[in-house]
Amino acid sequence: MKLLRYGQAGAEKPGILDKDGHIRDLSGHVSDIGGRWLAPEGLATIAALPLETLPLVDTSARLGPCVTGTGKFICIGLNYSDHAAETGASVPTEPVVFMKATSAIQGPNDPVEIPRGSEKTDWEVELGVIIGTTAKYVTEADALDHVAGYCVINDLSERAFQIERQGQWTKGKSCDTFGPLGPWLVTKDEVPDPQNLNMWLEVNGHRYQNGSTRTMVYGVAFVVSYLSQFMSLQPGDVISTGTPPGVGLGQKPPVYLKAGDRMLLGIQGLGQQSQVCF
Ligand code: ZN
Repeated sequence: MKLLRYGQAGAEKPGILDKDGHIRDLSGHVSDIGGRWLAPEGLATIAALPLETLPLVDTSARLGPCVTGTGKFICIGLNYSDHAAETGASVPTEPVVFMKATSAIQGPNDPVEIPRGSEKTDWEVELGVIIGTTAKYVTEADALDHVAGYCVINDLSERAFQIERQGQWTKGKSCDTFGPLGPWLVTKDEVPDPQNLNMWLEVNGHRYQNGSTRTMVYGVAFVVSYLSQFMSLQPGDVISTGTPPGVGLGQKPPVYLKAGDRMLLGIQGLGQQSQVCF
């Protein structure tokens, strides 16, 4: 299933994509795409609904972030060996973990704000993992049982705030609009192998990132298990699993976003996002 949220920011309703690519309204049956609806029983209930009888939604509706109730937005850094190389870093011996403020979350096609004083706003297409049930001390073998599904994420990053302003990366990752999620939460039954998905990102029609989750250093199951040794993961938590090469920082010379630039990014089977900078 491709689950989504549509409508005005802060007042989104739950929806689902039908087999013809139309949005059907779920709000008569489902409170929202979050919480208990992400557990296997909740997803099974949604899967049993007769989609063709649900109200059609205008295709021009704004899409919101594809999940609600995200308590934690956890990111993995330098998780593609070739991306680590382009930033001048070596592949870490354990996952690099950092947090992005949940206030950065927005819809997949909402405009991206260049933060005040920024000269180094950058892009990162990433595979997002959405937790479906609480995970604490789970093994790698059991880890995917706790995953509801996947989505596209643009892990927008201000490189000067991230790297040149001291301390951890959080400052460069948490600006408003720096966390577009969606367009859909694609349930894991439709993603049999999360480690074999093509992914790409273009700015103003130029393709900068062209990678695959095949070259991820620490895969999804490992990352979920690993994180659950340090904190419990809850339904609606989002993990952004790192970016392949081709970020602005890695260009020679570096290229950064400016007002008016348009990003287009996507992952095989998970849909695409488009954002204009302001
Ligand atoms: Zn990232």
